[in-house]
Parts: sequence; C-alpha cells; structure tokens
Amino acid sequence: MNTVEEHEVIVIGAGFGGLYATYLLRNSGFDVIALERGSGVGGTWYWNRYPGARCDVESLQYSYSFDKELEQEWEWTERYAGQPEILEYAEHVANRFDLEPNIRFDTNVEQLDFSEDTSTWTVSTNGTTYRAPFVVAATGCLSTANRPEFEGVNDFEGAIYHTGKWPHEGVDFTGLRVAVIGTGSSAVQSIPVIAEQAAQLTVFQRTPNYSVPARNEPLEPQVQADVKADYENLRRAARSERSGILTTFPLNEDSAKEADEADFRSRMDERWEYGGFSFYRSYADIVVDPTSNERVADYVRDRIADVVDNSDVAGLLSPSNTIACKRPCLDTDYYETFNRDHVQLVDISTSGIERLTPQGVIAGGSQYDFDAIVFATGFDAMTGALLGMNITGRGGLGLEDAWEAGPRTYLGLGVPRFPNLFTVTGPGSPSVLTNMIVAIEQHVQWICACLRSMRSEGHHSIEATDAAADSWVDHVNTVADQTLYPSCNSWYLGSNIPGKTRVFMPLIGFPTYAEKCEEVAANGYSGFVLT
Ligand SMILES: Cc1cc2nc3c(=O)[nH]c(=O)nc-3n(C[C@H](O)[C@H](O)[C@H](O)COP(=O)(O)OP(=O)(O)OC[C@H]3O[C@@H](n4cnc5c(N)ncnc54)[C@H](O)[C@@H]3O)c2cc1C
Repeated sequence: MNTVEEHEVIVIGAGFGGLYATYLLRNSGFDVIALERGSGVGGTWYWNRYPGARCDVESLQYSYSFDKELEQEWEWTERYAGQPEILEYAEHVANRFDLEPNIRFDTNVEQLDFSEDTSTWTVSTNGTTYRAPFVVAATGCLSTANRPEFEGVNDFEGAIYHTGKWPHEGVDFTGLRVAVIGTGSSAVQSIPVIAEQAAQLTVFQRTPNYSVPARNEPLEPQVQADVKADYENLRRAARSERSGILTTFPLNEDSAKEADEADFRSRMDERWEYGGFSFYRSYADIVVDPTSNERVADYVRDRIADVVDNSDVAGLLSPSNTIACKRPCLDTDYYETFNRDHVQLVDISTSGIERLTPQGVIAGGSQYDFDAIVFATGFDAMTGALLGMNITGRGGLGLEDAWEAGPRTYLGLGVPRFPNLFTVTGPGSPSVLTNMIVAIEQHVQWICACLRSMRSEGHHSIEATDAAADSWVDHVNTVADQTLYPSCNSWYLGSNIPGKTRVFMPLIGFPTYAEKCEEVAANGYSGFVLT
C-alpha cells in the first residue's frame, strides 16, 4: 500500500540552502524533513566533481556565518577552496549539527501538488509520498545540467561526461584524445587540468569568455587567524556590498573611461596580478557605461594577446561582447593552456557542433576523433530545477504555465497561486549575482522567521499576490535595464537554453534587497496574503 509520510515542512535539496533550512527549521521546533536526489549532502559540490572544480569566492567568505564555533573551528587550506574541500565542509556541517537523520537521500521529487481543501502539498518522489503544509524548495540555481541533444549523441562509442554530473570515482584521461565542448566557467576551470593528463585535447568554442586569473594559493595561517579574529565585522561589511563579497581593494567611485592611461593601466595591472573578482570593482561604471566597459574589455583582450603565442588563437579566445554581462570566469592557466602543442581550439561560432559520430564530432565539415567527450555546457539556470518538479498550485495551475513568460515571483521567495511554497535564492532574488552563501543565509532566515510568525499568529497559509509579483518582476527588469547585463546572451537571461523565454532572472544588489525583505516582514508580510 502506498503510505504517505506527513511533516510540517518539507525541504527539497541538501546543498548549502537545504542544509541550513533543515537546521534552522528544526531548531525552531518544526517537524522538518529534507529530500535529496543525491546520495549525500553538498549539492553543487556533490555533483560537480570535474577536474579543477573550485569556488571563485574566497574560502573565508564562501562559508556559513550562522554559527560562531563552526566559523572558528573550520580551517581552509587555500585562498579559493577546491570542490573536495567544500564537499568535506558540507559533510562536516551535516555531521556537526546531526542533520542526516532529517534528510532522505536518493529521493527525487517528481511531482508537487497543492490541495486547496487541506492547504497541504503532496510531494511525490521515486519512493515514499510525503505531505506537508509547507515546502521550501532549496533546489539550487545551477543544479539542472544542460545537456544539448546533439544529433548522433548516442552513436559515440567513447565515454561522455557532463561537468555537472561527474563520476564520483573520477576519470583518468591519461593517454586519451579528449574533447571539451563549451568555454564557460566549468570549462575554464577544467581545461588546464584535463590538458595535464590528456594525450590530445580539443576545445570546441561557440563564444569565448573573459577570464581573469584567480591567483589561487595556500592560505597563510596568519591571514586566516586575522579574518577569524574580526569575522563578525567582515561578514557585516560583506553584506553591505552589492555582491555580498568583500574585496581587498577599496571600492572605487570613479569612471574607467575618464581615467588617464597611466592610472588606468596601473590599476588594472594591480588587480590582474592580485587576481579574483576585485578586477571587476576597479571602476564604478564597468557594468553600466559601454565606453568604460569596452576599455576594460580591451585590457583583457590585450592580456590574452600577451599570453597566447599564436595570434589567431588569441583572436579566437578574445571575446567581443560586453565584459561581465556573462558570469565572469576566474582561472588558473586557462589562456596559457592554449600554448601547449597537444591543445587545439576549434571555433564553432558559425557551424555549431553538426553531429556526434561513433568516432567523435563533426564540426565545420571536419571530423574529429576522440576517446572521451566532456560536455561543459552548463545548466538550465535558476528555473530548471523548479520547473523540473512538475509543480501544480491552486486550481491545478502548472508552474510551467504560470511562468510561460518567464519566472514570476515576489522577492524570489514566493509565487502567486503556489501558496506555502518558498524558494531559496529563487529567480527575482540576488542569488547568482552574489556570494551565494550570503544570499542563502538571508533567505533561509527570512523564511524561518516567516514560518515562526505564522505559527504564533495562527496563520496556516501564505501566498504572494499577483500585484506584488507583477511589480516585483518590473522592478527586477528595471534595475537590470540600468546596467549592461542584459546586453549579451547569458544564462542570467536563459539564453543558453533553446526556447527558454529571454528575461533577466536575478536581481542586482544584495543590500537593498535584504532591506526590502526586512521591510516586507515588518509590515506584516506586505504583498503576501496570510490566512
Ligand atoms: C561549478 C560551480 C561553481 C560555483 N561556484 C560558485 C562560487 O564561486 N561562488 C558562489 O557563490 N556560488 C558558486 N556556485 C553556485 C552554487 O550553486 C552555490 O554557491 C551553492 O552551492 C548553492 O547551494 P544550494 O543549496 O542553493 O543549491 P545546490 O547546491 O544546487 O543544491 C540543490 C540540491 O537540490 C537537489 N535537488 C534539485 N532538484 C531536486 C529534486 N527534484 N528532488 C530532489 N532533490 C533535488 C540537488 O540534487 C542538489 O543537491 C557554483 C556553482 C557551480 C555549479
């Protein structure tokens, strides 16, 4: 007989969002269970085990702030943590707070249906069916791999891997002829490492991406101790930054286009040598003024030309689009890798990949033979995991119909006609434009405070209004339109997925957003209907 397991709150996902939600809700006295399709915790860092996978936000910032002892006791070993270390950290958090008894692994949520009669969600999985009044979707912004359906994909006789679903036992490319399809962040991180092993590496590039050196290095114990001694202030300062990320350099208010050449060059050189995202904070107007943007883009193109020996290859690797309007990449020896004799770059900007064959790939009319192909083709970002759950709200409305014209949320936290469903870092919230752990903590704290308030006020249902969602979507777009972000085809706009509605999904600016969330809560959850 098909039994139904009942709880007060069901969290979906056991990445950093789901882990923290489970912890905080349980501590607030809710009967909570988390459902996770993977066999372990960690989310992104559980799935993305590709060679070179690493965080782009510095380790001391890419970590939870909610528990002072955890913050002090965990020791990071590198400036930017690699995937194994971040996964170990997630596992440590789960153990430290004894979260696993509240998590059901290997449990894929296949359907979510809201019953207006009982004001509960029925959550169908590959096993048990669950029921709860509240669902917190911590399903991740980058958790649904985009695997293009190239013609002949099943004909290829070698191995195919996706960076976002990497085999746990690892892959040994020694002596193999390897293809990497894609040149986004995961490709930029993995290409130099795969090139170390492979006998021959061919990179298929549709659009080049700007990448800045990460300058990863071992973390000096004194640096770590100094940060930990002042963690509270540093975390607070980070939360007042647009991206939730503190940079070493002071925030500059001046304009790139107005800087004189010597000053411009010395500032950019300093940031380039230092490494990391501070590069994009060198001038205040890089993502708003096209002339300033072009000047910074020229700088990166010059650096690519300096590094890459073959000028044709350097040209192909040099992007022409707006810098920073796609997710910026950080690398270790990415451009240098193209100087290696066994590494080849194939431009597929006009031809695309024509098809896969038993032996390899046909592109631009040429056949390339491989033993293994790596799809570094990214994710169906921000909406993929939510739409993948077949969610139906009031009146049987499907989420895919409600979002036909693009995701429509209020604060990236709630969706009209989908009562009692909260989204962690949902579309319309700062999410992927921030240090995501900062965004996750803020969301989870807000959701938990909302549920506590509902419990004490005797409310059983919360739903975003249409009017609030409409004006929020307008606001997200208005903010984006004041910048250069919408000016190129990025996954922020859904442009990497054929047929996906083109709309800018994340909200720019963490601090004002967090203030707005506070204001909404203080005003009795304005924009939501509570019953
Ligand atoms: C390669 C890579 C590098 C990144 N680097 C950075 C970085 O430098 N800085 C940064 O801030 N962020 C980075 N991110 C973003 C990263 O996703 C977040 O930082 C963070 O890990 C997200 O946590 P989460 O819990 O919200 O989502 P996730 O970690 O994606 O976890 C979501 C979980 O939900 C589960 N799930 C989804 N759907 C279902 C379902 N239907 N049923 C059951 N379970 C489901 C998934 O299996 C997954 O475990 C990176 C992402 C990737 C992919």
